[in-house]
Amino acid sequence: MAKLTVEDLELKGKKVLMRVDFNVPLKEENGEVIVSNDNRIVAALPTIKYVLEQGGRAILFSHLARIKSEDDKKGLSMKPVAQKLADLLGQPVTFVPATEGPELEAAIDGLEDGQVLVFENTRFEDVVDGVEVKRESKNDPELGKYWASLGDVFVNDAFGTAHRSHASNAGIAANIEQTAAGFLMEKEIKFLGGAVEKPERPFVAIIGGAKVSDKITIIQNLLKKADKVIVGGGMAYTFDAANGKSIGNSLFEEDKVELAKQLIEEAGDKLVLPVDAVAADAFNNDADTYAAGEEGIKDGYMGLDIGPKSIELFKSVLADAKTVVWNGPMGVFEMPNFAKGTLAIGEELVKVTKENGATTIVGGGDSTAAVQQLGVADQLTHISTGGGASLEYLEGKTLPGIAAISEK
Ligand code: AMP
Repeated sequence: MAKLTVEDLELKGKKVLMRVDFNVPLKEENGEVIVSNDNRIVAALPTIKYVLEQGGRAILFSHLARIKSEDDKKGLSMKPVAQKLADLLGQPVTFVPATEGPELEAAIDGLEDGQVLVFENTRFEDVVDGVEVKRESKNDPELGKYWASLGDVFVNDAFGTAHRSHASNAGIAANIEQTAAGFLMEKEIKFLGGAVEKPERPFVAIIGGAKVSDKITIIQNLLKKADKVIVGGGMAYTFDAANGKSIGNSLFEEDKVELAKQLIEEAGDKLVLPVDAVAADAFNNDADTYAAGEEGIKDGYMGLDIGPKSIELFKSVLADAKTVVWNGPMGVFEMPNFAKGTLAIGEELVKVTKENGATTIVGGGDSTAAVQQLGVADQLTHISTGGGASLEYLEGKTLPGIAAISEK
């Protein structure tokens, strides 16, 4: 990897600015706001602990939800997050209820090696004196410069916001000598970036989910990079319609048919479509179903999952894969009767990971939910943590948060 990582930095005695992803869900309990799911804080611990062990002085910050008014600020302080972090680290964490100013500066100056400070929600800067000015979200150059002045080096471990150019990532990086990736960010660059830039072949991409329109750029980009692109889920029916097949009441985007035709023509046998479906007479787990074959789906029915022949076809395409990227379910996996296709792909990915030593990567919110529901997340190589960021990475876009990390 050509990017600087936290392990390349001299950290002893340094004020280490750390952009983390502490955008965690909160809830109220006995009149107190607490963190209701600490997964993201736990995920950030390795980088934080490393910085502390090396004798760095950690200055942590993150956004928390969106702030559009002064009122929003009331329930969205980082204070409960700092408390949770202290519990998880087993050491005190200083919380400063400010994003700038003398109190924050004094607290940073008072830090000793191995100590931790968390400052207030970076998006509080989006509303100043009741006016929505988006200093953080629109990357106000003065704000990035100010935050950069508070530290000696910058570690960015927040992949979830890497597709945004904000003051707390790109803004700081533009004003400090060294910006390095934390361990989480490093992993995302290594696997997602690695798959798209220099995959071990054969490289198979599996794209599913509801809509062609959401994923069209990903399909186009991956058709350029991958050896095979499997398309499943609701979006496959627009491709079927483009091929002249009947699709009944299945999901269909009429305005994408021409594009689908064009892709089918250009891609040739690189594009692999389902050959059968589980068709239902209603969008309901208990709907009446039948096995629809190559001829398509009859009127009054909709395809809600791929059928057994498609599963076999997709498995055969995956059989010798060395790199697999998966985004989007093969059917309505939230309903058990239409989860088989998604489940089978999850199981096949586990198999190629074990048997081929393949690198298997899952990106995007719904696919991550699917592999977690299937209970196979820990048997695949990498589950991306960033929804929007991982989609844009797969689309081949430059992510400002990653571009801003220093080269080695
Ligand atoms: P996405 O967010 O684009 O990855 O889409 C995920 C959603 O697509 C899930 O909620 C699935 O239930 C839905 N989905 C997948 N296949 C189908 C289908 N054949 N018909 C309707 N919805 C589907």
